[in-house]
Amino acid sequence: MKEELLFIPGPTMLSARVLNAMSRPQQGHLDPSFVKTFSEALELTKYLFQTKEGLPYILTGSGTLMMEAVIVSLLEPDDRVLVIDTGHFGERFGTIAGIHGASVDVIKPELGRTPTLDELERKLSSSKYKALFVTHVDTATGVVNSIKEVASTAKKYDVLSVVDSVCGVGGIELLFDEWSVDVALTGSQKAIAAPPGLSLAVLSKKAFEVMNSRKVPIRSYYMDLLRWKKVMENPGIYIATPAVNLINALKEALSEVREEGLEKRWLRHRIIAEGIRAGIDALGFRFVAEAGHRADTITAFYVPDNRAGELHARLKSQFNIQLAKGLYEYRDMMLRIGHFGIISANDAVALVAALEIASNDLGLTNKKGTVDEAMKYLEKLKP
Ligand code: PMP
Repeated sequence: MKEELLFIPGPTMLSARVLNAMSRPQQGHLDPSFVKTFSEALELTKYLFQTKEGLPYILTGSGTLMMEAVIVSLLEPDDRVLVIDTGHFGERFGTIAGIHGASVDVIKPELGRTPTLDELERKLSSSKYKALFVTHVDTATGVVNSIKEVASTAKKYDVLSVVDSVCGVGGIELLFDEWSVDVALTGSQKAIAAPPGLSLAVLSKKAFEVMNSRKVPIRSYYMDLLRWKKVMENPGIYIATPAVNLINALKEALSEVREEGLEKRWLRHRIIAEGIRAGIDALGFRFVAEAGHRADTITAFYVPDNRAGELHARLKSQFNIQLAKGLYEYRDMMLRIGHFGIISANDAVALVAALEIASNDLGLTNKKGTVDEAMKYLEKLKP
């Protein structure tokens, strides 16, 4: 069967090299050659997040595991935290922090927008917060927060910055050291283009100072990031069996990121995002994220008359293209396109052409010329 064009916001399509890495004979988790691969993957994680100072982590478990591990390890009961909620995943940070006993304040701008720096400063100066949680790109809305500005504002108020870059890093710029981020995390199945099942993070020196000066011990075994520190410094140490085959695949995916080079990769993502947005705009569909807040890794748009399900099904049955529906309450009203990982300009052309045909066939629009509009950007990515 021919492979589908997978345009959901993760998992993404995988390269042959990454797929091959998972089909080797099984190794033991303490096999010296696997320990070497794990160490290399950790080193490449530092490159991914652009850090020399931070300590990289790779844990077996999806992105949510790392969100919770960071919260359990950093926060103590009754700590006060601030969450920027630009969509479902900001809200998730708040929910997890609340479950673990923190007092959670939330800034929730209108759907499709990010808070202004004034709003953020007002909130940060109103209380003593231990940490600020922010989603780099919210997968539910396609809204991108300026991490550079948010992290420097948090630092000004001596508040730890914790960034969920699950839908960002590897596709758009994130400079951990330069922007003074304290914790940044992601999942393997997003812009890195590895299979799902691993979560990655980087922690700053300040994050370790906070963990080391806790009054109450970390109330978790598996999610205790201090416990895992010695493994991340020496992957030959056993605490719990890592997903060996996934880490082999991750190392190849991260090597591909390194070989392409982050700056080139960010540019490829930007051009493809611009091409896809130009195509959607040409069809007359409205974006969920407002201009100036649109991410280069995922795009969410409204489908007229709550007919997202029909367009979704038509793209799959006619073109073998898979998009994602809206999350939860947005299920029928929007579609979401994940355009990150190993995606090429050709994939994007196929997507906008299919969107035009399917939307016209279903009577959702009567516009043509989508590919021409998209090509104004995509032609910059000649093979
Ligand atoms: N944060 C964001 C921004 C996400 O997009 C996702 C997954 N869609 C998560 C967190 C949770 O990651 P996972 O599903 O791997 O647990």
